[in-house]
Amino acid sequence: MPAYPNLFRPLALGPVTLPNRIVMGSMHMQLESRAGGMERLAAFYAERARGGAALIVTGGFSPNDAGNLDTHRAQVSTAEDAARHRVIPRSVHEAGGRIVLQLLHSGRYGFHGGIVAPSALKSPINPHTPREMTPAEIDTTIEDFARAAQLARDAGYDGVELMGSEGYLITQFLAARTNQRRDEWGGSLDNRMRFPLEIVRRCRRAAGGDFILVFRISVLDLVEGGLAPGETQAFARALEAAGVSLLNSGVGWHEARIPTIAQAVPRGAFAQATRRIKEVVRIPVAASNRINAPEVAEEILARGDADMVAMARAFLADPEFANKARAGDRAGINICIACNQACLDHYFTGESASCVVNPRAGRETQLLFLKTRKSKRVAVVGGGPAGLSCAALAAERGHQVTLFERDAELGGQFNLAKFIPGKQEFAESVAYYAERLRRAGVKVVLNQAADDTALQGFDEVVIAAGIRPRRPAIAGIDHPKVVSYVDVLSGRAEPGREVAIIGMGGIGFDVALYLLERGSRAPLEARAFAAHWGIGADGSPLSLPPATPARRITMLKRSTGPFGHTLGRTTGWVHRAELARNGVRMLKGVEYRRIDHAGLHIAMEGKEALVQADTIVLCAGQEPRRWPNPAGIPHGPAFHHIGGAREAGELDAERAMREGAELADAL
Ligand code: NAP
Ligand code: SF4
Repeated sequence: MPAYPNLFRPLALGPVTLPNRIVMGSMHMQLESRAGGMERLAAFYAERARGGAALIVTGGFSPNDAGNLDTHRAQVSTAEDAARHRVIPRSVHEAGGRIVLQLLHSGRYGFHGGIVAPSALKSPINPHTPREMTPAEIDTTIEDFARAAQLARDAGYDGVELMGSEGYLITQFLAARTNQRRDEWGGSLDNRMRFPLEIVRRCRRAAGGDFILVFRISVLDLVEGGLAPGETQAFARALEAAGVSLLNSGVGWHEARIPTIAQAVPRGAFAQATRRIKEVVRIPVAASNRINAPEVAEEILARGDADMVAMARAFLADPEFANKARAGDRAGINICIACNQACLDHYFTGESASCVVNPRAGRETQLLFLKTRKSKRVAVVGGGPAGLSCAALAAERGHQVTLFERDAELGGQFNLAKFIPGKQEFAESVAYYAERLRRAGVKVVLNQAADDTALQGFDEVVIAAGIRPRRPAIAGIDHPKVVSYVDVLSGRAEPGREVAIIGMGGIGFDVALYLLERGSRAPLEARAFAAHWGIGADGSPLSLPPATPARRITMLKRSTGPFGHTLGRTTGWVHRAELARNGVRMLKGVEYRRIDHAGLHIAMEGKEALVQADTIVLCAGQEPRRWPNPAGIPHGPAFHHIGGAREAGELDAERAMREGAELADAL
């Protein structure tokens, strides 16, 4: 009996039979508009096709100029575009997979001056106001979609996915929130559905009956003025009649104030909404969002919520996800921890997307990890993210690796992160890497802080010893009410009811969230999540129930920049919203004077003040645990510092794992 029987049942989809129920969902890689990007994308997708994904969806490409996401052109509107794309479907087909091109018109979500929408209504997340489309423009845009579908076929794609969710142009036509037209394209639901249905019909006509037409439908809008569940069902039926082959799910507009893919979202939380669609159509329906493990996918299929499951970030984390699931090798799967740090957050900084737990993602043509011809003796000092990444990859390349860890378990900072509400996924990464070290034959020495003697006899020494929490020089810092974030998160200290947190970086915010949580460290279940974030039975947002915080918290920093500006672009707002709702007080521009029995004495804008506190938690950044070269060893080993040990100031898991991987590739 296979471990995940429903996941590996074949499925007939239009002209093809897919070998399993796994769709690799769309991810914008920020390579789409770059020179050489097509070749890198081809290698990226081909690796996932070899890894067993039955159907791959590319990142979004616009059918015309107005629909681009930003000032870069990621578009399929000319024969030259089709020719540039050819390498992608060719590589995927050679790898045994199927791939569809996603057509995405940004509408009012585009970050450029030429954006258009059904009505001239500005989005709350974009400074640009769109121009209202004329009826002639609407017709031309539909033709642009049809031409793009034809070009996708010419390029060799198996089909297209029409992006009709997340608040992009198609969704903007559907919802009264953004469509206030009085002509045949606005008003009644029939009129609002006309634009997407006409796109589907004309794409079908242009690309032929044997072309896969996926429509990504918004199963939940999570904004006021979105579609009610009954309207979404009516729309799904109309899409089926218009010629769609597969309905994929999208959840929440980008401007929704409810998290939909962050770590705070329980696994598979929105599958019920997909089920509502499945109940009214005969074509296959795919569930999506926070499906990151085969057992979650299997359960969704077994319950009958969907016919397929779409996973995007799961394939960044592990290109072999599907093959490993088919083999029942759950422990061998590198699970996406939903941090967004190296994938979605990169989109906003213009960097190409990758993955914290798999630094090779998006760099398949650069990080090759070839077998070494000269096997070296490599010591890795530290079993945190940097050390784990380096040790695993170096051993897999053929080096003889010994890893020294001074604690009793592997994981480093990940072992603390896993206690933060919503960050439990970090435990997956630690377990995965520990297993990978075992399989690669790494000798793991726990409870040993390696010294110069232990490091004798190695060819290469990698210092990945991480960081020491900074202890700022404030008068009274040794007062018993002062504890470090490590004491709090490890459970060694139990803070009182009034807490002051010194430092407002990522760890300060994490600690505040941890202290607000009462009792349970378990992740929220789907129903509790909906209640917590105010999701109504019909999917519309409700006003949030009042919070009853377990503690009164004041967070402080010396600098004067915005609160939480160093948090992740796509996840920081969730943190800020939680803390605001719980009445956490935030002070900036403070000078720390002293700590005593009353609390933390500060000065702000020239005035002295007291922050009363039972406990003061230090989250004041980090200092590196560096290592001097061993004295007196002639021609001693080559020394390398990576991760927090190299640069604690910008300690982050993404850099740590990437530096570990890059060094392992170079050893
Ligand atoms: P951080 O982001 O560098 O923040 C350190 C904080 O300590 C700052 O608010 C700083 O504020 C304060 N500080 C620095 N030196 C101080 C001193 N001598 N006395 C008093 N206060 C001092 O460091 P972190 O919070 O330890 O986080 C480390 C890294 O972990 C982050 O860079 C991030 O990459 C990662 N992380 C991210 C998240 C997330 O995004 N959710 C969560 C956890 C960790 P002032 O200088 O203004 O006082
Ligand atoms: Fe998942 Fe984080 Fe990797 Fe993105 S960076 S794919 S969220 S583990």
